[in-house]
Amino acid sequence: EEIANPRALPKTDIAYVDQLVETNICKAGPVFFHNGNDFPELLKNCLDAGPEAVIGAITQAQLRGHGGAGFATGLKWKLCREAPGATKYVICNADEGEPGTFKDRVLLTRSPQAVLMGMVLAASVIGAREGIIYLRQEYIYLKAYLEQQLQLFREQRLLGNNILGHADFNFDIRIQMGAGAYICGDESALIESCEGKRGTPRVKPPYPVEQGYLGMPTCVNNVETLVAVTRVMQEGAEWYQSLGTEDSRGCRLMSVSGDCQRPGVYEIEWGTTLNQLLTLVGAEDPWAVQISGPSGECVAVDKGGERRFGYGDLSCNGSVMIFNRSRDLLGIVKHFMQFFVDESCGICTPCRSGNVDLRNKMERIIAGRGCQQDLDEMVSWGQLVRSTSRCGLGGTSPNPILTTLQQFPELYQAKLTEQSGVLLPSFDLEAA
Ligand code: NAD
Ligand code: SF4
Repeated sequence: EEIANPRALPKTDIAYVDQLVETNICKAGPVFFHNGNDFPELLKNCLDAGPEAVIGAITQAQLRGHGGAGFATGLKWKLCREAPGATKYVICNADEGEPGTFKDRVLLTRSPQAVLMGMVLAASVIGAREGIIYLRQEYIYLKAYLEQQLQLFREQRLLGNNILGHADFNFDIRIQMGAGAYICGDESALIESCEGKRGTPRVKPPYPVEQGYLGMPTCVNNVETLVAVTRVMQEGAEWYQSLGTEDSRGCRLMSVSGDCQRPGVYEIEWGTTLNQLLTLVGAEDPWAVQISGPSGECVAVDKGGERRFGYGDLSCNGSVMIFNRSRDLLGIVKHFMQFFVDESCGICTPCRSGNVDLRNKMERIIAGRGCQQDLDEMVSWGQLVRSTSRCGLGGTSPNPILTTLQQFPELYQAKLTEQSGVLLPSFDLEAA
């Protein structure tokens, strides 16, 4: 109902949130879907307390980035605040491109003001004058709605010049549309794209907190992290810290899809087991679960069902795909490898070439033309691609193969035995 262009909003968003409320298993109730109207008061309190106090609260809450890597948010803000630079920037990474991940879309739809509040708080802490929401091209239908939310913030003097009457606090946000490239989810490729260049990852370090947008210190945070910051400042560090586990505080959102009765977006407390989540969503005879999309790991439910979500175990960037026994797992792996072949930016050889080689190996094995040497080479090549690629894409792209080889070796072995022990040459003579 609050959407500028209701025609363009998938009805499922409403269903997701309804499901979330019904089935929430977080003991503190919905953490992320809180649409407070107390933002002017919250910001006033934070400005009065000062940037060190805000950083202190986020640090005390032990909030870690929800993009996947789990870098300490308080430390990131502190480093950016301390970095020398005449101008600083805040960027919200809303380039949610990992297949199977759709929870940021729901946050942008349902809690947009909490996202904006997180950006304003970041700006107040690091001293930024400009913020950018880098919005995934496929979410263009949300742009008008988000512009409307920005306008509401300006009307409340939460954006613009002299925010809440503070003469030295001027900050505004613009929306930058992506162009459909998965790689622009990498923060440095995203920054290049914001600068109007081709989205190619930079070599790190230097990290964006030192040299980011236009070479200036830049704080890049994921949508969910920004909402979590707002919630920490609303409810207090102790509240957030009381949720989750020793090494993973708080809650996180999960996009759940695949073979289950109730797919959707769920808020879970870190420490929840995979089996608990599968029960919650009504998984039907779950066999394999792809954690964090293709770039994550594939877990056999009978081996890993009691594993816990958290940075120390099942570290998850917010997506779970469930497959039952009717699914062709090797076909899915090949499909994932094709995805990485398509999305590689191509600047470094291990990723550009290695993913093609790995995809070809998968095709060969699926066709029943593979041998043990192919499996061994997939492992060694996969490790090479992972360890020598410049960015997270190549750093994770072999995971579909490596994790299914480890969790489901029998699927691969069965394909080798189909050739009755005959080892074929490792290349296709006809094609050559
Ligand atoms: P990273 O560990 O290099 O960095 C994580 C964040 O911490 C970045 O913002 C980075 O700038 C910052 N950082 C790290 N070390 C720093 C330092 N010494 N000083 C200052 N800042 C520092 O990880 P990454 O390459 O940015 O991201 C990889 C992660 O992305 C993977 O763990 C993967 O799970 C995740 N991922 C997420 C999605 C998604 O859709 N959310 C998709 C693919 C991958
Ligand atoms: Fe580009 Fe792949 Fe290298 Fe990343 S790892 S910079 S996507 S070629």
